[in-house]
Amino acid sequence: MPTVNDILDSMDYGPAPEAAGEVTAWLTARAPFGHFIDGSFTAPADTFATDNPATGEALAQVSQGSAQDVALAVKAARKAAPKWAGLAGHERAKYLYAIARHLQKRARFLAVLEVLDNGKPIRETRDIDVPLAIRHFYHHAGWAELLTDEFPDHTPHGVCGQIIPWNFPLLMLAWKIAPALAAGNTMVLKPAEYTPLTALAFAEICAEVGLPKGVVNIVTGDGATGAALVASDVDKIAFTGSTDVGRTIRRATAGTPKALTLELGGKSPFIVFPDADLDAAVEGVVDAIWFNQGEVCCAGSRILVSEAIARDFTDRLRARLGKLRVGDPLDKCTDLGAIVHPTQLTRIRDLVSAGEAAGATLIQPEMQLPAKGCYFAPGLLVGAEPANPASAEEIFGPVATVTTFRTPAEAVQLANNTRYGLSASIWSENITLALDIAAQVKAGVVWVNCTNQFDAAAGFGGMRESGFGREGGREGMAAYLRAPEVKSKPEASAPDFKAMPSPATLASSGIDRTPKLYIGGKQVRPDSGHSYTITAKGRELGLAPLGSRKDIRNAVEAAHKAGAWGKQTGHNRAQVLYYIAENLAARQGEFEARLKEAGHDASEVAATVARAFYYAAWADKFDGAVKSTQSAKITLAMHEPWGVMGVACPDASPLLGFASLVLPAIAMGNRVVAVPAQSMPLLATDLYQVFDTSDLPGGVVNIVTGPRDDLAKTLAQHDDVAAMWYCGDAQGREMVKGESAGNLKAIWAFENRDWRDAQGRELLNRATQIKTIWVPYGE
Ligand code: NDP
Repeated sequence: MPTVNDILDSMDYGPAPEAAGEVTAWLTARAPFGHFIDGSFTAPADTFATDNPATGEALAQVSQGSAQDVALAVKAARKAAPKWAGLAGHERAKYLYAIARHLQKRARFLAVLEVLDNGKPIRETRDIDVPLAIRHFYHHAGWAELLTDEFPDHTPHGVCGQIIPWNFPLLMLAWKIAPALAAGNTMVLKPAEYTPLTALAFAEICAEVGLPKGVVNIVTGDGATGAALVASDVDKIAFTGSTDVGRTIRRATAGTPKALTLELGGKSPFIVFPDADLDAAVEGVVDAIWFNQGEVCCAGSRILVSEAIARDFTDRLRARLGKLRVGDPLDKCTDLGAIVHPTQLTRIRDLVSAGEAAGATLIQPEMQLPAKGCYFAPGLLVGAEPANPASAEEIFGPVATVTTFRTPAEAVQLANNTRYGLSASIWSENITLALDIAAQVKAGVVWVNCTNQFDAAAGFGGMRESGFGREGGREGMAAYLRAPEVKSKPEASAPDFKAMPSPATLASSGIDRTPKLYIGGKQVRPDSGHSYTITAKGRELGLAPLGSRKDIRNAVEAAHKAGAWGKQTGHNRAQVLYYIAENLAARQGEFEARLKEAGHDASEVAATVARAFYYAAWADKFDGAVKSTQSAKITLAMHEPWGVMGVACPDASPLLGFASLVLPAIAMGNRVVAVPAQSMPLLATDLYQVFDTSDLPGGVVNIVTGPRDDLAKTLAQHDDVAAMWYCGDAQGREMVKGESAGNLKAIWAFENRDWRDAQGRELLNRATQIKTIWVPYGE
């Protein structure tokens, strides 16, 4: 026992362990665990151990879910679905509220259980994981209450399959289950193999509050159980985890009508400018990369620091590193606990070694790690070049790379030099600079002078290979609801392209016009040098250029160059859209004649003029929001354009179908590469002059005519196309989803509809993604 003098000499913290007796008694009484299906636990079968990573000791046996277990759970959820969805929102709200209350009553128990199963420190489970999980249920009790007011005519998806990772087991469960319940879905959730225990404790709470049987089902197991859930008869998959598994799921669901949201990995920048409050930024780094052992998808794992202060900042970080306490996660003085599993520890060690081998220097404090358990000392990899594997790969451990920059432009370039786009943290006392950078970083969440802020009212989710869809807030609710059904109107199958007459047969047909492609505001010949014949009612109407992969690539490049369009004001974009309407109206007769000639409804022209007016009206009115999160922060939800979008247009309604998709996309600031109606692209090619005379900057709309599905495939595969809309049959829809699995772009694939009614917020929502920006406000 140290004397008071000893303590005053060292100023060490004494041990302050949280008692685990209640939890171990619960485990002894309950384990081995079966699955929670249809309101009760099944008999345990085919069990495996879940261990305490801080000690290596087994905590409990849990069951490995088979495809049959998953099927049983989905069947129970399916049976429970109509009644649950049919309850008044107020009735569902009462259940969510009861769950929140019960979580609150068991807060300490859950905090300890999470520590034992995951290895994270009790201070974090007690102060962050559990309170945020509770907040999520309260917040969503509110959404259940307000559902009919705020989401009129929306319906739940039905049965949701939910797969969560091991880094925030209870919190991720809450992020998945609370909105799903509020929206009226039933669900089957699979927790991670390493950390199933809080989900099983949650199952008991569901039973305690009398949640109707089958509404929430929990099936434990490994990746095979997750894959079985993806393959099962569910209506939606919500997944959080690694980008690789996200890709697999995208491929597996491509040919199905299952809705999908993916919250994947990240390699988020933490940018420190010379005028930052450096002490605050140091504490920011603690919260960014050493919080939760760095096992955080949005961890600030790439520190980008201005060269001017790099030495000073690194010295401060080194000093701070030396003060972090690593050890028993149940001890309230512990900053970093255990890594979740030996496999993850090996992965961290390997990546850090690879980072050193590639030229970075590892700074780690001298510290005695516990003899038993999975521990890794926190550190920094200084001087990591962008190509260093430690800069590119998600380490998912307590080590950040440190890289310097000279100018704000270089900081942005380094920040965006990643395939991910989950979050970013920006440190500067100059709010103008910080918000300028916030606008430029490719990230779904941006924290200014703060980091790792979460709240149930704020959307969270990524761009690029960090996935799509948002969790939290209104946008998170929308992801668990189906918008009112738009009646589809299947188009007559697109013409068999290969069966068309070859250009050679046309020379005698007396056709005098050979339109070109429209790329970068110029009319250009197709790379193939070929055209194809357009026929209607057995007559040849003209030629259209035969676009190919090369043309699509050129068009994407041109669209990228037109980035200034996204920075224009909504007002300016509206003016261009009005101008397009005006110029089209001036040539109404000509377009009507063209449509009639092709056997289409001439009223499409007037409807297209009206559509241009409609989206011009929206261009400066599709407002974002300020979210009610924390009193000392403003949390903005900004609608950002995707950037470059691919749009494969319907074959039916060759003018109105094209305009109904392209106009909302550009009204929101996107640049578009459009493939117009394959069998009648001449209405789109006739629009070139309209665009040219309407002040539409070159490259904002690019048009490549030709075989829709071949061209759409190239767009889907293209890494620099951020989002894609595809209108077509089931085969084509599956194709674009599958072809884009590698780059994980957001896809909206749908069947043809009656374009006379097809306008509204749905398209604007789909033409934008939400960037959540947290800015200090007040104290
Ligand atoms: P995974 O993506 O493998 O796991 C996430 C969840 O998906 C788990 O429940 C997992 O089950 C399940 N799963 C695994 N394979 C499949 C499949 N084919 N179909 C459906 N579900 C599946 O992440 P890991 O836990 O293996 O971690 C690997 C790496 O991923 C980490 O080192 C880290 O870099 C990253 N990661 C990123 C996270 C994020 O939030 N961005 C979260 C967790 C990890 P099981 O637990 O049995 O594997």
